[in-house]
Amino acid sequence: MNDKIANCTRCTFCKWVPEVKSEAFAEICPSVQHGKFFSHTAGGKLIAAYSLLHGKTGYTENLIDNIYSCSMCGGCDTSCKTLFAEHVEPLNSLYALRQRVVSDGQAPEPLKVVLQHLRQTGNPFGCEGATRGDWATGLDLKQTKTHQAPFILHVGDAAFEPHQWSALHHVARRMNAAGVNFVIGGVDEPDTGGLAFDIGDQQLATTLAQRTLAWLEKSNAETLVVYGDDSFSAFRNIYPRLGLALGKVRIVHIAQWLAQHPSNEKADCEKVRVTYHDSCRLGRLGEEHKPWAGKMVLAYNSIPIQEPAGQLQLGGGGVYEEPRKLLADANAELVEMERIREFAFCCGAGGGGAQANPEFARAAARHRLQEAESTGAEFLVSSCSSCSHHLKQVAEQEGSSLKIVGLVEFLQHRETAPIATAASHAGE
Ligand code: SF4
Ligand code: SF4
Repeated sequence: MNDKIANCTRCTFCKWVPEVKSEAFAEICPSVQHGKFFSHTAGGKLIAAYSLLHGKTGYTENLIDNIYSCSMCGGCDTSCKTLFAEHVEPLNSLYALRQRVVSDGQAPEPLKVVLQHLRQTGNPFGCEGATRGDWATGLDLKQTKTHQAPFILHVGDAAFEPHQWSALHHVARRMNAAGVNFVIGGVDEPDTGGLAFDIGDQQLATTLAQRTLAWLEKSNAETLVVYGDDSFSAFRNIYPRLGLALGKVRIVHIAQWLAQHPSNEKADCEKVRVTYHDSCRLGRLGEEHKPWAGKMVLAYNSIPIQEPAGQLQLGGGGVYEEPRKLLADANAELVEMERIREFAFCCGAGGGGAQANPEFARAAARHRLQEAESTGAEFLVSSCSSCSHHLKQVAEQEGSSLKIVGLVEFLQHRETAPIATAASHAGE
């Protein structure tokens, strides 16, 4: 962490989207958009980390609040690499900073509770582990406990969110209709460990990730069809950071699978204007992380460079096309926001920031909703169930007229019911 922090020049590029289209939506970092001071940028957080490491400062309430008023969305990392240089990698240092905070016992109380839940029940909500398979009750799906198949449908935290179950049922129906031989994990599907890693508990994250890998190996599956964007990012971005490999298992996000298996069913739906929110976890943090191993050397005695050169990862390897194709196929007219794809503005729901500082997360969502409203769209759709749920809650508080729907939920209604039904469902 020390080396990387020292490379930061405090230039504040990590605050902005690389290509600014308007003053209103120029920022990429929800932390500084809410907090307003340089200390809230990644560069500011790195100064705090440097001071902590060198014993120049101790823990204060403000410092912890600053570190966790952040969704670990990686926007700073993409902008820093795009506009400045590849070798600072602020996200690496933000992960390391949180690991230090957790190992010093200084995590915010709400996140200590989340970690405790993950430790005791295997999910962040503290729900009984035995209820993890309840979403599939009555569906007659084969489970990894008793069956093997080439495909596994991985549902993640949606297993504990009844508002997601109709969409999960739709996915299972679609896979059955396509003749896919698949199983579900049911009560045996472990937590991925991604949230524990984001919060800073590397030990717990490793334990959960190893549990997931052991379950996968035993299942003998070849392909994991992943419903949750958080889970997708855990497999693609976090496991390589933990030094863990998925072996022969191929990871496919549900948007990718659905795009490869178009539905024959289409309800008679009129065209609607939709704007699409790229979640950080399917977008820039859905890019496969390639750890760099080497050393920093000084070129011309002053410019730090990597030797050997690393592979530049700007977030462009995330999943961007398939959700847009699915929307177009569902007769949606896509009107894009200013900040999209790897430069999307995070809604604030992820990384533990929403539990640690709910007002930070609400502010991020409010700002994203303003951007979505500025497109004139009727619907705001996101592949990520956490994003759509969080945005919907804040939209209701703010009296926004946007209809906010998860991608699968949107497709489900476009395939099986007229849009009027989808609209009333979205407004529930
Ligand atoms: S993290 Fe990168 S972009 Fe941000 S201040 Fe440091 S060098 Fe500049
Ligand atoms: S991870 Fe996201 S919220 Fe946190 S400092 Fe970087 S851009 Fe800001």
